[in-house]
Amino acid sequence: MVYPQQEGLMSIEATNHYLETAANILGISERLKTVLKTPRRIIKAEIVIERDNGELATFVGYRVQHNNSLGPMKGGLRYHHEVCENEVESLASLMTWKTALVNLPFGGAKGGIICDPRKLSESEIERITKTFTDQIRDVIGPNIDIPAPDMNTNAQTMAWIMHEYSKFYGFSPGVVTGKPVYLHGSLGREEATGLGVTLTIENLLNDHQRSIKDATFVIQGFGNVGGIAAKCIHERGGKVICVSDVSGALYDKKGIDIPTLIQHTHEHHSIKGFQDLEMISNEALLSLECDVLVPAALGDIFTKEVAENVNASFIVEGANDPTLPEGDEIFNKRGIIVAPDILANSGGVTVSYFEWVQNIQRLSWTEEQVNQELQRTITNAYQRVVKLAKKENCSLRTAAFIIGLGRVAKANLTLGL
Ligand code: GLU
Repeated sequence: MVYPQQEGLMSIEATNHYLETAANILGISERLKTVLKTPRRIIKAEIVIERDNGELATFVGYRVQHNNSLGPMKGGLRYHHEVCENEVESLASLMTWKTALVNLPFGGAKGGIICDPRKLSESEIERITKTFTDQIRDVIGPNIDIPAPDMNTNAQTMAWIMHEYSKFYGFSPGVVTGKPVYLHGSLGREEATGLGVTLTIENLLNDHQRSIKDATFVIQGFGNVGGIAAKCIHERGGKVICVSDVSGALYDKKGIDIPTLIQHTHEHHSIKGFQDLEMISNEALLSLECDVLVPAALGDIFTKEVAENVNASFIVEGANDPTLPEGDEIFNKRGIIVAPDILANSGGVTVSYFEWVQNIQRLSWTEEQVNQELQRTITNAYQRVVKLAKKENCSLRTAAFIIGLGRVAKANLTLGL
C-alpha cells in the first residue's frame, strides 16, 4: 500500500512571510535571509516493510534539518496521512526560531512519515519506525539531530528509535527525547507542551488584569497538547466550554468536567458520547464567544474568513502553524491578541532540552525541578517578547520572530556563512 503524497497548503510560504517581516525590521541582508530560509538538508526515505499479512508496503518519510548554527538540530517526528515535504520544511524552520526564542542550545529540524496510524497495527508502526531510523541513523544523533514526539508519535515511538540507533552506536539515550520515564525519559516531558500553553495563558491574562479563574476557554484538539492544556486550565479554575477531536466538538456553556472527560476518552478513544453533551462542528467551535481560543490540532486553520468570525479576545497557539498570514492580518486589525506558536508551544522542546541534559549528565531531575525551570523559561521568553512588541509597536508574533531570528542571524554571521 502506498499513500500518495498530498499537495499540502503552502505552509513554508506562511513561515517565510513571518520571517521576512522580522528580517526587514532587523535589517538583515538579502544574502543572509537566503541562508536563514534554506534548510541544511532534506532527507526523503522510502520505507519498505512487511505488513502483518505478509504483503510488502512502502511509506515515504522526511527529515528536514533546517539550521544548526546554535547547536544540534531538534524537532518532532509526526505520523499523518497529510504529511508533505512543504509542511515538514515549514515546521523545521519554525523549530529553529522556537529554540532560539527560548534560548536553547539547539537548531531546528522536523520529520514526518506519510501514513495513517489508525490503519496500522502496533507492530507495523514499530517496523516503520525502525526502518526509518535505520535509513536516517547516519545523520541523527545526540550531537547532530534529536527527534522527539509530535502528532501521532509518543514515548513508545522514541523508545524504538533509541533502541535501533543504539544497536549501531552504543547506548545513546540522548538521540531522542520524549522517551518513557523508565527508559531515560524526563518527568514532566509528556505534560510539558500543554503546561507551557497554560503558563503562556497565565502570563497573558495577568498582563491584562485577568486570570484563568474568571475566563472561558475553547480548545481545538484533545490530544497531548489540547487535552493536557484543558486539564491544567480546569485545575486552575478556568471554564473550558468547548473541546474537539476528529469526531467533532463538544460544547457546554456551563463548563465541561475535564477530568471526567479525560477518563471517558481513555475508555472510548474519543470525546463523542460524553454526558450526552451537544456536538457542534469545527467551524462553529472556531467562532464561539470566549475569552481564550486555543488551536491545538492541525495547522493552517485561520484563513481570512475563519479569522473574521473568531469571537475571542486572545488566541494562544498550541498547534504549530495554525495561522495563515491573511488570518494574522485580520487578528491584528481586530485587536485580537495572538500568542504565537513558537512561544506558546515551546514547553515541549524546552523540557526535551532538560531531558537531553539529564541524559548527557546521567542524572535525573525531580518533576518539581523540571516544572520550575519550565515556568522560568516560558515566563522569561514571554516577557522578552512583550517588551519588544511594545518597543517596536508590533504583534507578539513579529516580536517573537525578531528575537529568534536575531539570535540565529548573529550566530550565522559570527560563525561564517
Ligand atoms: N514536537 C514538539 C514541537 O513541535 C516538540 C519538539 C521537541 O521536543 O524536540 O515543538
